[in-house]
Amino acid sequence: MENNSNQLQSSIVRSPSRFRRVCVFCGSSPGKNPSYQLATVQLGKQLVERNIDLVYGGGSLGLMGLLSRVVHDGGRHVLGVIPKTLMPRELTGETIGEVRAVSGMHQRKAEMAREADAFIALPGGYGTLEELLEVITWAQLGIHDKPVGLLNVDGYYNSLLMFIDKSVDEGFVTPAARQIIVSASTAHDLISKLEDYVPYHSGVASKLTWEMEQQFEHSTISDIAR
Ligand code: AMP
Repeated sequence: MENNSNQLQSSIVRSPSRFRRVCVFCGSSPGKNPSYQLATVQLGKQLVERNIDLVYGGGSLGLMGLLSRVVHDGGRHVLGVIPKTLMPRELTGETIGEVRAVSGMHQRKAEMAREADAFIALPGGYGTLEELLEVITWAQLGIHDKPVGLLNVDGYYNSLLMFIDKSVDEGFVTPAARQIIVSASTAHDLISKLEDYVPYHSGVASKLTWEMEQQFEHSTISDIAR
């Protein structure tokens, strides 16, 4: 019986994904609920099944390590982008696949964003939230028009989504910008929704690029330091 369903699954011919490579942000911890690890494995398998490569923050810790192993073992290319300061093994664990060393956290995020056709956030902590909110903000500013997905495993992100809805109600996020965040509770549904995503246009023609944003960031930082 199981054999039959395996054969049926492998005989389903999926149309090629519009994504060549997806960037995943996720916890450097595994989380307490085993469903987070299960969802990570399912996301990895979905990427493999759809012939999508992975770019992530590098290393073998927590959900990050689990995801990279599943995608790598499935035969897809894995690119880890790691700031030189995080490279000591005790900070990131062993790395697999291609590793790109960059000068700092800002360059890492720009590099991961540039390399990807879409972004997905699994459950995670501060690092994951920061990376997620930054790519949402960049979409809002028109720096990129790549889809951003939230894998809302077991309602982990319910309170964040409620908070963002409150920001819309209170007039800080426009209803149109709210649509930047695509969410689903399974990897299969999330990637399918991301495939159908229609890019957000703020109406303000943006001439910003990642490079300009980086320059702005650096000059702002040096201005503050002065
Ligand atoms: P967190 O959600 O706070 O566990 O942070 C996870 C996110 O931040 C990942 O997507 C990584 O890009 C980055 N990050 C945080 N800690 C590490 C670490 N020890 N090694 C590599 N990347 C990390």
